[in-house]
Amino acid sequence: MERNYRIAIIGSGPSGFFSAEHLLRLNPNCEVDMYERYPDPFGLVRRGVAPDSQNIRNVSKAFDEIAKNPRFIYFGNVDVGIDVSLNELRPFYDAIILACGMETSQRLGIPGEDLYGSYTASSIVGWYNCHPVYQSLDIKLDRERVFIIGMGNVAIDVARILTRPIEELKGTDISDNALETLKTSKIKEIYIVGRRGPAQVKFKENELLTLGEIGETDILINPEELILNEASDEEVKASPSLQRIMDILKRFSETKPTRKRRIYFLFLRTPIRIEGQGRVERVLFEKNVLEGMPNKQKATGSGEIEVHECDYIISSIGYRGNKFPGVPYDEMKGIIPNIAGRVVKEGTVIHGLYVTGWIKRGPVGLIGNNKPDSLETVKNLLADLPTLPLCEYPQRNNLIQYLKDKDIKFITYEEWKKLDQYELEQGEKEGKVRKRLCDVEEMLKLLNKVR
Ligand code: NAP
Repeated sequence: MERNYRIAIIGSGPSGFFSAEHLLRLNPNCEVDMYERYPDPFGLVRRGVAPDSQNIRNVSKAFDEIAKNPRFIYFGNVDVGIDVSLNELRPFYDAIILACGMETSQRLGIPGEDLYGSYTASSIVGWYNCHPVYQSLDIKLDRERVFIIGMGNVAIDVARILTRPIEELKGTDISDNALETLKTSKIKEIYIVGRRGPAQVKFKENELLTLGEIGETDILINPEELILNEASDEEVKASPSLQRIMDILKRFSETKPTRKRRIYFLFLRTPIRIEGQGRVERVLFEKNVLEGMPNKQKATGSGEIEVHECDYIISSIGYRGNKFPGVPYDEMKGIIPNIAGRVVKEGTVIHGLYVTGWIKRGPVGLIGNNKPDSLETVKNLLADLPTLPLCEYPQRNNLIQYLKDKDIKFITYEEWKKLDQYELEQGEKEGKVRKRLCDVEEMLKLLNKVR
């Protein structure tokens, strides 16, 4: 082999960076070019993790180290599929890994979901995390009662950010828009609602404990909500972590309300309709029963309907991937169909095209889970490399010239580090960990790269 292998990674979130790390470490002849739609890298780490969880965001320091490798290069501000197509890139790469994650919330698919006051978790998370698309989200929080649908960690994140005292948020990197709105928030009650029971919650024990530690907020549960059927009882007995979650929930059910805000947990309810004149005013739930064997129980409607007055609905029921132009898509699962990371079309492997992260396996798992996931993809890619047809233009300079000829104003990692430094300095002036840039044009202007 007289030249290096040329690999492109589309997406700069954790699964993209972990893939780069594996490639660079496992094969000294691999060069990695990483593409990112926005000028700033890190995907979920910057735009998904809640701003009061800076310790989790710190994983980006490890990504900085990966980016220092001379065989790695970053092309920020390049939207593959829009600015340049996958087909246009293929002659420059021996293999391409799609690590584009999942940004879109699953929809409830019920009447009234589009009323003013109804939001998806991805829009709320994007709003408080400086996602350029959600900075102009029309949300006032000038009313009292919120219903969050879903019992996962994202639902807990959202409830926590909506209730945390401003004093605890203002030193974080939360967006200015969100901070200003939260300062005058009138929210008094948040209901977190699950379609199944307390034994089937998806959030983790630590997240639940942290929620319980927020000053000014009581967590309340009607003890009847915690009554388990036989199958759920078995599920809890078989799982120490579920037992601990049940213990925490029981403790909450003994709380006497004394503080200014309240979070309630409601189980066995599926929202069936949202109603209101021009905005959310109430939500109707059907009460459920659980049916099935332990660990396979499904919620079935009982026919009993419950009506709750409310001002905001936030659906936090998981994510799905966006379609990637020219790439197969599994409509049912919202992922790119693949066998262990090799992209497949109607059961046949597409040579040289790979996938990793949430868009490969679905929207489950913590940031660290992307490490073994990307290792599987990278190992298969490396095993395939000697058998793949070599690309037409293997010199990096050819690619860079091509992007320049297309007038694509890409951002290098060094330029991103300037933005990073700017955010840190501006943050220091205001006593924050950093002051985030939320606007792509502003980032480009700071780098003298206005489109
Ligand atoms: P999730 O963990 O899959 O939870 C989704 C919740 O929505 C479940 O309670 C699910 O109930 C419910 N749901 C799904 N479809 C529904 C429907 N049609 N109607 C009503 N309820 C429905 O998803 P997530 O909270 O978005 O989290 C995604 C991943 O990111 C998870 O792996 C999570 O652990 C991770 N994450 C981690 C952290 C952290 O470490 N701090 C923070 C955020 C996210 P069923 O169980 O009945 O399906």
